[in-house]
Amino acid sequence: MHDDSLSITQEQLTQFRRTFHRHAESGMAEFWTTARIAEELTSFGLSPVVGDSVSSPEARMGVPDSDKLRAAEARARNEGASPLWLQRMNGVTGLVVDIRPDLPVHTVLRFDIDAVNVQESTDSEHRPAREGFASLHDGVSHACGHDGHIAIGLGLALELTKRRDRLTRGVRLLFQPGEEGCRGARAMAAAGWLNGARHVLAAHIGMWANEDHALVCGARGFLATTKFDVEFFGKAAHAGAEPEKGANSLLAAASAALNMHALPRHGQGDSRITVGMLEAGSGRNIIPDHARMVCETRGSTTAVNDYMFEHCRSIIEHTAAMYGQRSLIRLMGGSDNADSDDSMIRVVRKVADETPWFFKDRIRDDAPGFGSDDACVHMAAVQRQGGDAAYLMLGSELAAGHHSPSFDFHENALLPSVELLLNVVMELDNG
Ligand SMILES: [Zn+2]
Ligand SMILES: [Zn+2]
Repeated sequence: MHDDSLSITQEQLTQFRRTFHRHAESGMAEFWTTARIAEELTSFGLSPVVGDSVSSPEARMGVPDSDKLRAAEARARNEGASPLWLQRMNGVTGLVVDIRPDLPVHTVLRFDIDAVNVQESTDSEHRPAREGFASLHDGVSHACGHDGHIAIGLGLALELTKRRDRLTRGVRLLFQPGEEGCRGARAMAAAGWLNGARHVLAAHIGMWANEDHALVCGARGFLATTKFDVEFFGKAAHAGAEPEKGANSLLAAASAALNMHALPRHGQGDSRITVGMLEAGSGRNIIPDHARMVCETRGSTTAVNDYMFEHCRSIIEHTAAMYGQRSLIRLMGGSDNADSDDSMIRVVRKVADETPWFFKDRIRDDAPGFGSDDACVHMAAVQRQGGDAAYLMLGSELAAGHHSPSFDFHENALLPSVELLLNVVMELDNG
């Protein structure tokens, strides 16, 4: 007989969640977070992989500049992050752990670990503030629930370790940096961590499962997206005496922004274009010699998104030429689109039906996506090699919407989430 009871307790999961909540870190700079996850996994008897092999250097996107990275790493060290793990990480955040490294990988689960650049509420109505585990860091907080994802991932790792002799196939957990802005997934996928996998799962607290005891077994319709920064390099001149000697970057950027928003749409799916920020110029009487735009495209398929992005690129380059200057486009993030597969939804539904926490009338097979999530990069990678994927939404009532200063979820959703994912993994191992 096997002992199927869980070793992890609600108290431990709450403790994990609150610890990571306090040490919220921005995407691609999750030094304290990664080091701490590595320490916990090691204490379970696992051997996490960190450092350069975790994510392919040429596919990394939206990495902060080296000064910011150094400052984030120094802060992590000051806050007690393990010097040994920081050294092994070699400036790269995120980690990978195999439960049975001796077996070929069969099932992969993605847990995102980054926080959001949102100032956390200090209102006493906000539980993290009231109970003393609010973010220690100005302007950064776990306002999307990824602190809960880390706790669930650690709980799952412990339970799988306890059952490792029963596993007949390899299980791999990805603790992924930089989900916000879709920065971290492509580089992990490019490093080959999905190669050979038959199943991949990602899970998010809340989203459309925003009541206790609810579950979405497999979301469909996340949008493909490309995040990019644009710069125009013109020429300054005296605006009164000799404006003809300048090259106006403000006009180039403004013209490009209008034309990007006026692009003809693709007939094969929905699309979005947003120029979310535009900065230009240095004073009233100077022809602006520099402009910067922060932009994104989205599409209901990767092809539609690529169409939008490529046409934006063309507009930017031609507008720069028209205004006699140079442009530069920098990729900052991106994701494919992906849908959960029926085959995986059936497995999740079967397990959920046997998990008392989830109420039958609150379990839904599917739901629309929630904007974009770069878990879709992992899903699409496994689907391309003939495997299947699911993106679960784990039910919890939310104190406020995702990315809002007073976002919070119910911690009692953590333990049943571990139980659900554990039983899905064991089911896939049998299948
Ligand atoms: Zn988010
Ligand atoms: Zn999120």
